[in-house]
Amino acid sequence: MIRTGIGYDIHRFESGRRLVLGGVEIAPDHGLAGHSDADVVLHALADALLGAAALGDIGHLFPPSDPAIAGIDSRVILRAAATHIREAGYILANVDITIIAERPKIAPHIAAMRSVIARELQIPETGVGIKATTNEQLGAIGREEGIAALAVATIIGRRLMERL
Ligand code: MG
Repeated sequence: MIRTGIGYDIHRFESGRRLVLGGVEIAPDHGLAGHSDADVVLHALADALLGAAALGDIGHLFPPSDPAIAGIDSRVILRAAATHIREAGYILANVDITIIAERPKIAPHIAAMRSVIARELQIPETGVGIKATTNEQLGAIGREEGIAALAVATIIGRRLMERL
């Protein structure tokens, strides 16, 4: 079986916090608000992974009310989602991500994000797509109030892989 999942996340800016996207520190300040490190990219991606196997969402895996997740590195969340996928009998084929931000410029950081995500998911970098776009100054993101991310993930049942 070949299955696809989708994920979405958005966080608002909060001064005095680090900006972390795709597991990479982009800026020491002007980060995003959140219980964890507020990495919207990894949150959207973890939801896409879980969604592909119909395993719920990251709010279910890591409840925001749980004090243990305060300030947590979202790579931990991503790794947990990937572990759930593997334990459910799937192999990760590829992921694709779109980051929606008016600022800062994302392009200079994409290579580093792909490298981190590929390593965390234990897949080749060719299996990690990342694009960035602005919101053309429309809406909350256009007003530079926050950053959003969309992700899709494709997974393949291990038994199907063995037959191929
Ligand atoms: Mg989030």
